[in-house]
Amino acid sequence: MSAELIDGTTTARRVREDIAKSVAELVAAGGTVPGLATVLIGDDPASHVYVRNKRRACAEVGIRDHHRHLPADVDQATAAALIDELASDPAVSGILLQLPTPGHLDAEALLALIPAAKDVDGLTTANAGLLAQGRPGLRPCTPSGIIVLLDQYDVPLRGAEVVVVGRSALVGKPMAQLLLERDATVTTCHSRTRDLSAVCRRADILVVAAGIPELIGPAAVKPGATVVDVGIHRRDTGLCGDVDTAAVAEVAARITPVPGGVGPMTIVMLLANTLTAARRQQGMAGRP
Ligand code: NAD
Repeated sequence: MSAELIDGTTTARRVREDIAKSVAELVAAGGTVPGLATVLIGDDPASHVYVRNKRRACAEVGIRDHHRHLPADVDQATAAALIDELASDPAVSGILLQLPTPGHLDAEALLALIPAAKDVDGLTTANAGLLAQGRPGLRPCTPSGIIVLLDQYDVPLRGAEVVVVGRSALVGKPMAQLLLERDATVTTCHSRTRDLSAVCRRADILVVAAGIPELIGPAAVKPGATVVDVGIHRRDTGLCGDVDTAAVAEVAARITPVPGGVGPMTIVMLLANTLTAARRQQGMAGRP
């Protein structure tokens, strides 16, 4: 393997330490302890694991845990009432509704009840709109974690040719917007893109969030490129991403591994967003 591995685990640890320090400083300056309410509806095993990891990460940096769990058969009005209650609770700085919710619920309607100031996943229409307009708001965790990773490894963004594979509201679209904000030249590919390999080969930086195991092989990568693999897939042999890591590492200059690349950054950016939300709600945005 020739490419340098972009180590998300170590970078996330460093960012987590900074957040823990900032939480302590906020409290020492007379602020209230930031709090995150994770809302889990039902018993999906993967969602349980994700929420448990987020709660554990909160505890590690001194963010208070306001976790709430509702049964799988809860009705829309009861779930909505919980979000409303958390929205008006001053101890709750951020609200995260774990997706997917059970099929009988309207998740969009529940997300719409989260005030923009507490939307630590950055998924509400208000925050998506602020991002589209290049105005300050809470940004989706996975793409903002990728920007931190690229900065950590001194990957130049200004003027760089960046190709983003995927156009989801969660990853692809906000990724493209954050890169534009940093003066990259951005192309977005999706399931209807013609000759995906040829477009990807233009990229100095290739971000892949297609949700298809090992979609991207070495023929789609420009020699010397930086490759960011967002995909996560469980296989009998372990986890893999949307990129054929071993083969692409022979061509790329840098690559994020799966696991240990983008994943750890996603959780840490949730903590960062919760801290940012708490500071803004307390009028302490300018403080460390
Ligand atoms: P999604 O299914 O919502 O979107 C996938 C996108 O890929 C779509 O826009 C689609 O047009 C595009 N696409 C599908 N097939 C394609 C093809 N053949 N060629 C080009 N584009 C194609 O998925 P998502 O929520 O954006 O997530 C993508 C992947 O990232 C998934 O594997 C998901 O598990 C993973 N993910 C990881 C993290 C993390 O923290 N590491 C966070 C979020 C998502």
